[in-house]
Amino acid sequence: MNTFEQGAKVVMNTYNRFPITLEKGDGMYVYDDNGKKYLDFVAGIAVNSLGHNHKKLTKTISEQAQKLIHCSNLYWTKPQVSLAAKLVENSDFDKVFFCNSGAEAIEASLKISRKYGSKTGRYEIITMKNSFHGRTFGAVTATGQPHYQEGLGALLPGIKYAEFNNFDSITEILSDKTCAILLEPLQGEGGIHPADIEYLKKIRKLCDEKDIVLIFDEVQCGVGRLGTLFAYQTFGVVPDAVCTAKGIAGGIPMGLMTATQKLSDSFKPGDHASTFGGNPLAASAGNVVIDELLDGLLDNVKKNGTYLTEKLNVLKEKYSIITDVRGIGFMQGIELSVPVADIIKQTIENGLLLVNAGKNVIRFVPSLIAEKEHIDEAMEILDKVLSKH
Ligand SMILES: *Cc1c(COP(=O)(O)O)cnc(C)c1O
Repeated sequence: MNTFEQGAKVVMNTYNRFPITLEKGDGMYVYDDNGKKYLDFVAGIAVNSLGHNHKKLTKTISEQAQKLIHCSNLYWTKPQVSLAAKLVENSDFDKVFFCNSGAEAIEASLKISRKYGSKTGRYEIITMKNSFHGRTFGAVTATGQPHYQEGLGALLPGIKYAEFNNFDSITEILSDKTCAILLEPLQGEGGIHPADIEYLKKIRKLCDEKDIVLIFDEVQCGVGRLGTLFAYQTFGVVPDAVCTAKGIAGGIPMGLMTATQKLSDSFKPGDHASTFGGNPLAASAGNVVIDELLDGLLDNVKKNGTYLTEKLNVLKEKYSIITDVRGIGFMQGIELSVPVADIIKQTIENGLLLVNAGKNVIRFVPSLIAEKEHIDEAMEILDKVLSKH
């Protein structure tokens, strides 16, 4: 029995997996158990921010593992504090809460917003249709796509949905109970849709006027992916809190919420916690990712993100089934007039890992170390597959 036959027997059936077993990686490439090489433009879905087998990252993790993998948040550790200090120094925020995933970061933001709102009797939270915020009950309720919520019975009360990029749809459902607005500045799973800057500015103004907490879900679009450390810095609109996860520790599970002092003060000791949150192993990895981003990687994303846009537009000129090119930096997508599942299957067979974002969108979220040569190679393989469609 090979790995995927055995896996189908013993692992719960929650994913549609390709019949390949990945074994190792190096830089922009991964290898399966037959030694077949793949150019990786999925990067663990925007997680392996420094690529595979990054020397400084693996060295730091193994050294930290020999010192202290975990200790409770009953005590301080240097990696956690230094990571928090870096995030605070390079953002508009004052405090960081550490957890282990995107959904948990969203949960933290929902809870802190309600704690904040409770002082004035407010608890309603507005999120956007077509959004994705994770799979826990709060996060899946916040997710404005009914198919993620089917069969779950009663969801979290007090969440309302507005139309993304439609400011009036927010004011229509706003009430004197609204305490927060949560949105992705660049929707990922929903199909790679960036927010309009004017829309974000209007939301910021509304939140200031009504004392509403503005939360950005940067779980996918944050941590350098758009060419700035935080996604909000690309849009020039500052929220009250940011949730991030995915790429923050280069593949070690980590999530976090960072917020202004005013909002952070709503959590008192005992109000929220996470056993593993910010443990020294994950935090040591997070420190390497932030250092690398500030030490030239952000410039690489800016430069080669523009190159990726150019190349995707070349493909769009060539193939009429490509109807749109969207996104920023290393979070881009092409929309097709046909379902993309078959095309992705074929690029994988041809040695290129790609992932969809909805039925008709191919998503490009490579490691932040991707260079022109990797983009050229990816475009060649995709071109070859599209030419046969
Ligand atoms: C992936 C994702 C999440 C959920 O993150 P998990 O780590 O899978 O819980 C939340 N929001 C966005 C925008 C995401 O892309």
